[in-house]
Amino acid sequence: MSGNYTPITREQLLTALTGKNRVQTVKGGKCMTCDDADTDFRDALSVREYTISGMCQRCQDEVFQC
Ligand SMILES: [Zn+2]
Repeated sequence: MSGNYTPITREQLLTALTGKNRVQTVKGGKCMTCDDADTDFRDALSVREYTISGMCQRCQDEVFQC
């Protein structure tokens, strides 16, 4: 184990991965991955996932293959 491990937050990781700020993106009703403003969700679980990952329904479907 290295002593140089610097923990990063989920927000920092998401921002690093997508180049976007999740809080700002979700606030603006946009998708983190495709920039779509389609925030029509199938169920409460999908809405919850959106607040966590910032992904629209379509992107969630692609990622989770459901
Ligand atoms: Zn999307």
